[in-house]
Amino acid sequence: MSTYFETQAIRNQTERTQFSEHSTPLYLTSSFVFDDAEDMRASFAEEKEKNLYSRFSNPNTTEFVDKVVAMEKAEAGYAFATGMAAVFSTFGALLNAGDHIVSCRSVFSSTHSLFTKYLPKWNIETSYFKVDEVELIESLIQPNTKILYAETPTNPGVDILDLELLGEIAKKNNLLLIIDNCFATPYLQNPIDFGADIVIHSATKLIDGQGRVLGGVTVGRSELIREIYLFSRNTGPAMSPFNAWVLSKSLETLAIRVDKHCENALKVAKFLEQHPKVNLVKYPFLKSHPQYKIAKKQMKLGGNIIAFEIKGGIDKGRAFLNAIQMCSLSANLGDTRTIVTHPASTTHSKLSLEDRLEVGITDGLVRVSVGLEHVNDIINDLKQALEND
Ligand SMILES: *Cc1c(COP(=O)(O)O)cnc(C)c1O
Repeated sequence: MSTYFETQAIRNQTERTQFSEHSTPLYLTSSFVFDDAEDMRASFAEEKEKNLYSRFSNPNTTEFVDKVVAMEKAEAGYAFATGMAAVFSTFGALLNAGDHIVSCRSVFSSTHSLFTKYLPKWNIETSYFKVDEVELIESLIQPNTKILYAETPTNPGVDILDLELLGEIAKKNNLLLIIDNCFATPYLQNPIDFGADIVIHSATKLIDGQGRVLGGVTVGRSELIREIYLFSRNTGPAMSPFNAWVLSKSLETLAIRVDKHCENALKVAKFLEQHPKVNLVKYPFLKSHPQYKIAKKQMKLGGNIIAFEIKGGIDKGRAFLNAIQMCSLSANLGDTRTIVTHPASTTHSKLSLEDRLEVGITDGLVRVSVGLEHVNDIINDLKQALEND
């Protein structure tokens, strides 16, 4: 198989059936049949690689996983119904009661809820470092620390963490480094190159890229994925064959889509940066980004998410959202359609001001997930909304 990303995404395909189809068919079947008692015994004993039941594996989910494994330079993987199923099952499989996690505080809000509300049920506690406090990481490590966890770029602040540094800290302290690589996609960044043991994606975002299905995937070292697979085949968070079929097709166009997303996003970021109603623009490939050098080191392009600060706080943020005409107000990101959110009045409104500031959410912060419409239309919509009053 080719080592080129684009070719792997297209040619890494399930074997043809007797019908010689060109594009992989959808295998809607809950179970699979065996030739005889011996075939069934050997299959259950895992002496042969055979699909048994679609909670364990299915040709469509296998094709999807195999592509992500190749793209992330991992050894193995497992596909989940959602990104959160991937995150939870990874923790569920790899942690024991009493283990400890060190995590960046800027993580996806449901992941943070796992850390604060659910993992403590099993006496698993988490200590946090802020994006600009990486020098504190080692002081947070305890004898029972098992996992170092982070996302980069972060949501919604679009900060960058140094993967090479995290890899070194994890290795030195014998921790598993787990990276949620959702914002970068396997096309822009491969955390395994920097020492990550496990990489997680919400496939719902840029991997689908068209706002249709939910999905998640965890890839990494074989022995760890084996634990995650066994946990998941018993607990049941598997991706459906239909979603895997959609997502595997989506991967065929991931490179070309993400290239265009990033090209549009850089233009939008440059437009925002010079606008008088905007205080601060965070985009990894703008020279003004505080971690620009690190972003350049570990990412191929800057991604499609921009955070910016509107002058005037909460009220101006809400007024900006109300004046938007073409872009969508929606909770998703990584869609073909540009999406605008104002975290302080929506997704993070339940947090206290102090907690919001901890994750970089100021009152005027707006997050844009730049889509694939013509960039002039995206810029014009943002411009008229900024200049609305
Ligand atoms: C959306 C998201 C998730 C959760 O994925 P779902 O598919 O919505 O369950 C996890 N991590 C990050 C960074 C996300 O953006």
